[in-house]
Amino acid sequence: MQALAPLIDAVYPQRCPLCGAMLAGYDGLCGACWGQLSFPGDPACDLCATPISPEGPNRCESCMAEPPRHRGIVAATCYDAVSRQLVLRLKHGRQTALAAMMARMIAARLPERNLASWALVPVPLHRWRLWRRGYNQSALLARELAGLTGGTLMVDALIRHRRTPSLGGLDRAERAQALQGAITAHPRRLLRDRRVMLVDDVLTSGATSQACVDALLAAGVREVRIACFARVI
Ligand SMILES: [Zn+2]
Ligand SMILES: [Zn+2]
Repeated sequence: MQALAPLIDAVYPQRCPLCGAMLAGYDGLCGACWGQLSFPGDPACDLCATPISPEGPNRCESCMAEPPRHRGIVAATCYDAVSRQLVLRLKHGRQTALAAMMARMIAARLPERNLASWALVPVPLHRWRLWRRGYNQSALLARELAGLTGGTLMVDALIRHRRTPSLGGLDRAERAQALQGAITAHPRRLLRDRRVMLVDDVLTSGATSQACVDALLAAGVREVRIACFARVI
């Protein structure tokens, strides 16, 4: 493809997927859009990636009070106007080619780029939603991440048994209640003793990812980490 790139470039000049500005490179955002993204800062809690004071311990208060069952969250960006646009276009705009760029941004934040011994598992959609949308945006990210890291894509390791209502406005107990039994591990996927990177597009309250982590651990997974494109902080 490299040999053809100048030709393709001349015929279809690359444009920024957000604002349409011409790009010098072959993909990615223009400098102006890139400059508006915000990234999880340092120092951050080493488990949940929320910002913490540089003087204190390396974990936030809520993780110290009640440690999460996963072993850490990697987020490419903070959820704001620009990252939201990218997520919406990936999700509803059928701009599935964005997945490659977004996965590269996630991979850049991983402490370890080689995930050859890991399984990459997307947060599942209910089959009706999958059918309507035609794809699971988290699975697209997981597939690209598998290509970048050498991890094994296990696209259906988790199953969502029912559609869950919007979790916004619910408190923690109500969210857990709404998700009770909604997500389980596929009984025939070999998850026991594996290390799993759970892949999500946006991590909001963490209730859905927590249900996924619980289901994976119940299936005998040794360790779960979470990789997401945008983190609501
Ligand atoms: Zn732009
Ligand atoms: Zn924390």
